[in-house]
Amino acid sequence: MKASLRRTLAVRFAATMAAGLALVSTALFLGTSHFLRQQLDQALAGAEVLVAGRVEQDAPPSVAEILSIAEPERYAREVNRYAALRSAGGHLIRAFPLIATDLPFDSSALARAAGNGVVWVTETWHARPIRSVYISVPEGGTGVQHVIQVSAHLEPLQRMERDLFLVLAAVVLLGSGASLLGAWRLGGSAVRPVFEITHQATRIEAGTLSQRIVAHADTEEYRGLVAVLNRMLERLDAAFQTQHRLTADVSHELRTPLTALRGEIEVALRSGRSPREYELVLRSALEEIDRLTTMSEDLLLITRAEAHLVGARRVPTNPNALLRQALAQLRRRIEEKGLTVGESLDAAATSVLLDPALTTRLIEHLLGNAVKYTPEGGRINITTEAAVPATRGVRFGIENSGVAIAAEDLPHVFEPFYRVDRARSRGENGGTGLGLALVAAIARLHGGTARVLNQDGSGVRFEVDLPAPVENSGEAGNGEA
Ligand code: ADP
Repeated sequence: MKASLRRTLAVRFAATMAAGLALVSTALFLGTSHFLRQQLDQALAGAEVLVAGRVEQDAPPSVAEILSIAEPERYAREVNRYAALRSAGGHLIRAFPLIATDLPFDSSALARAAGNGVVWVTETWHARPIRSVYISVPEGGTGVQHVIQVSAHLEPLQRMERDLFLVLAAVVLLGSGASLLGAWRLGGSAVRPVFEITHQATRIEAGTLSQRIVAHADTEEYRGLVAVLNRMLERLDAAFQTQHRLTADVSHELRTPLTALRGEIEVALRSGRSPREYELVLRSALEEIDRLTTMSEDLLLITRAEAHLVGARRVPTNPNALLRQALAQLRRRIEEKGLTVGESLDAAATSVLLDPALTTRLIEHLLGNAVKYTPEGGRINITTEAAVPATRGVRFGIENSGVAIAAEDLPHVFEPFYRVDRARSRGENGGTGLGLALVAAIARLHGGTARVLNQDGSGVRFEVDLPAPVENSGEAGNGEA
């Protein structure tokens, strides 16, 4: 079973408090007990001085005197001191002033004390524990050693110890209970924002991604959590919107050629046509189908690349050779438009680990666009720059004269179906609107970046970095993908 955070917090806190309290209480109990016993021993030793003083002065108590104490047991209990003067051999000489003539004595302790020592012993008297001290008492110059035994009942001390134990046990129990209660309440208020955040986050789903979590979180940590979740929602929202836009764009882009196709075929079927006319209709239909095929292939590659379903199949590739090949295929259109092409290819860029098929598609799109968007008689420059060392990657630069791209369009030109001039592009150039999105996707598949910059004079420059397998840090550009 998974424990709730609140319960875990409360139990752990209470357990820690209980352990702490138990430790402190044990130390307090042992310390106090030690102190009390020490006090008792000192008091007993002090009593010996009094008694010893009286050894010199008092006459020995008579049996009658001893018997004259009305209730010796009770009296002794109240004062809790007993004293007996004994010869070194153990013979009772005198008992003071609260006498118990049958006060037991420990003969070995007596013997040790007679050798001028002080001996502490715990004994039993009438089945009750007593604490005794044996101290040698010299009798005025005779050289004969006597021993004074001073005793006290241990019961009052044991009672105090028991009371102290009970009080401390109660402190530990009540303290632990109070900590558990306090920690439970505190834990409740600490995790409440989590419940609120969870509750609000649960209600946000695909259709309501524009909502944000506004749970009342008054601590830095929860504010941080809410901020992170909201940022994640923002990214999800943006991704969903892009997805929706893409779906809408795809449907639109598909519908237009399909409608045209249908119209042409319907017109052709309306009345009898010559074989030549049928051929023209079929050729036109084939063109539309080719465009649709290209579009769906490009779209498939872009979406697969986004979902990391495809990867670059890298082999040692000569990027300069790929550029020249693509240029050769465009030669006729270049000549038709009277364009000048300048080349500045880095001789070091001859063998880079790239996917040749994907790199060719990338170059074809960039060069095709350059030819398409450069006004007649304009100029195109193509460059390659090898990384250092040369095998680490290559940077393609393709620039063309003409009109610059408006600043507000720059960040979007790599988005699928984004056209700077929607009205013009499709009709005139027949582009699918996916070319630059495909360029960006291929660059990303190589771990690289594609960007566009407006040139100082006129026209635009597209730059693509294709690093070899180790990642390359992307550079910031005006419009980058
Ligand atoms: P399209 O099929 O419309 O050419 P692209 O994705 O290739 O789609 O390009 C997106 C838009 O970026 C184009 O509609 C065009 O406005 C602009 N663009 C692309 N290449 C160039 C270029 N070399 N010079 C100027 N504008 C360009």
